[in-house]
Amino acid sequence: MKYLSTRGGTSRLSFSEALSSGLAPDGGLFVPERFPTIGGIAPPGDGSTARLAAFAAELLEPFLVEDPLWPALPELCRRAFSFPIPTRALPDGTTSVLDLFHGPTAAFKDVGARFLAACCDRLGGGGTVLVATSGDTGGAVAAAFSEVPGAETWILFPRGRVSARQRKQLTTWGRSARAFAVEGDFDACQALVKRAFADEEVRRARRLISANSINIGRLLPQLVYYAAASLQHLRRRGVPPGFVIPSGNLGNAVAAFWALRMGFPIRRIALAFNANRAVPDFFATGEFRRAPTLETLASAMDVGAPSNFERLTHLYGGDLAPLRRDAEAHSVDDAAIGDAIEQGLSRWGSVWCPHTAAAVRVRERLGAADWIVVATAHPAKFETIVEPRIGRSVEVPPTLAAVLGREERFETIAPDWEAFRAMLLSA
Ligand SMILES: *Cc1c(COP(=O)(O)O)cnc(C)c1O
Repeated sequence: MKYLSTRGGTSRLSFSEALSSGLAPDGGLFVPERFPTIGGIAPPGDGSTARLAAFAAELLEPFLVEDPLWPALPELCRRAFSFPIPTRALPDGTTSVLDLFHGPTAAFKDVGARFLAACCDRLGGGGTVLVATSGDTGGAVAAAFSEVPGAETWILFPRGRVSARQRKQLTTWGRSARAFAVEGDFDACQALVKRAFADEEVRRARRLISANSINIGRLLPQLVYYAAASLQHLRRRGVPPGFVIPSGNLGNAVAAFWALRMGFPIRRIALAFNANRAVPDFFATGEFRRAPTLETLASAMDVGAPSNFERLTHLYGGDLAPLRRDAEAHSVDDAAIGDAIEQGLSRWGSVWCPHTAAAVRVRERLGAADWIVVATAHPAKFETIVEPRIGRSVEVPPTLAAVLGREERFETIAPDWEAFRAMLLSA
């Protein structure tokens, strides 16, 4: 299997090469040259982590055939899928929720970050992991790479726009990670990261490793939970489910589209955005307009111009009609997110994080078909938003509790490329 650029450049790279490059040479994003069909793969039985890891290795094998990482795939999957990813049915009979937040930093990004880190470790990867984050990416990446000898993580986050508990997960890694509060929005952070990767001298000097959701090594393992959940749902309910996915940069959702393309039993994909509505507007008008990022309650989805959009349009050959046949996109404003959190216990018997709440609100707008709502983070990460709306405290999972006691360290910087470049070259 080779990997191609969404922009049509001629390079065909192996999985390891694509993973190590981050962006394609022509500035596009890597995508598999084709999507293997699923054959007779069976759902991962009792859902134990061992079964899930074995399922993952079977599913991902065609994507790594003949790659240097191919022989290590079962081990990589054991390292990445080291926590449960359960689906639970909700009281209305047609809705389930897929909990992706039982990993070390209580958000779905642990899956991709852990797989990528395991791959880099196996490839002998010392270097600097440079990552922009609007919330959960940085923590997941720092946690995953803290297990990789010789790797240091640099995290750029928009100052004042991540929750206090999220910030703890970015700033308490001691020597293995360095955190920067950038005076700007997420797009400003991402712009600095993109320039660093485009700069040959910086790249070489620091041996940069890209860990943003554009990295193919983060995206691919996310196929696993869509594949497993859809097969299990079909077996249990006799019908293929739709997925409602909280979306920002579209890294999580693209994996669902790929799983659909591979033939997994997915009826439909509903994308739930916050007030950043570039993609919902595209679905409505066929025109994609980059918009400035708006701050919302679902801050990890505060992305004005989602970079993985390019993978989505590539998958559909730039055509809107077939995309609309498979999917729809909704925007949920802060008032509706707040309402969904507030009504979570009475309507669904559940406490939602703000991102999941956006998806729940979308599910409430959809008809009486089977839908799996994707829960992307634990509500305890966003207690200042959630607790006042539900009128009680949210229990903190043990992984998060461990982080909260540690000391924070971060530097505040301007979104100034020349100054940041100097730091990269001198530190
Ligand atoms: C990152 C994140 C999202 C958005 O995922 P994308 O892959 O950027 O679309 C949604 N919810 C949470 C909790 C996140 O951390």
